Amino acid sequence: MMNKHVLATSILSADFSRLGEEIKTVEAAGADWIHVDVMDGHFVPNITMGPFIVQTCRRITNLPLDVHLMIENPERYIEAFAKAGATNLTVHVETCPNIVGTLKKIKVLGCKAGAVLNPETPVGAIQPALMEADLILVMSVHPGYSGQSFIPESIARVSEIRKKLDALRSSAWLEVDGGIDVETLPKMKDAGATAFVSATAVFKHPQGPAAGVRALRALL
Ligand code: ZN
Repeated sequence: MMNKHVLATSILSADFSRLGEEIKTVEAAGADWIHVDVMDGHFVPNITMGPFIVQTCRRITNLPLDVHLMIENPERYIEAFAKAGATNLTVHVETCPNIVGTLKKIKVLGCKAGAVLNPETPVGAIQPALMEADLILVMSVHPGYSGQSFIPESIARVSEIRKKLDALRSSAWLEVDGGIDVETLPKMKDAGATAFVSATAVFKHPQGPAAGVRALRALL
């Protein structure tokens, strides 16, 4: 993968009655990836979307679909999401007793494999995944809902993982998710993040999603 900076717009805050239009708008404005937040009501309290929505997004756009599985037992569903058209499939280390094995299975299905760390999980838990993952995602809010405030301690966690990836000469994306806006994005970029998920700052921008994308894109 080329290591530039990417903006991943999360449709969690999109208007689902106009999903096609919303995705076309952010794509035209310069979004790099479409981020899909999958929640199961078990691993996180909320329930959102499944493979059917990924399939719908696949029909709407050619942008990479960055699918974030906040679900228990993700191995049960990775094939369904891969078939639905996911480009990146990212699983939580908290849900994967054998994270390296799960990442390998994702790659066999033809997707890029990502590993995510919740805010309260020690950074060391990501260590086994670093050599195998195409993407490391650091949660900067407690997963479950869009619109939560950014946890400032996440910045130091990103720096720490940046050092680990650099020491391994890894070209994996270092992605951040939660409370990313014009204030927090530059701090995460300085800490070494290369991919930035934004839901509310894009889709709930007062001047609309295109303005939201442009405001964040200008900082990358
Ligand atoms: Zn996400």
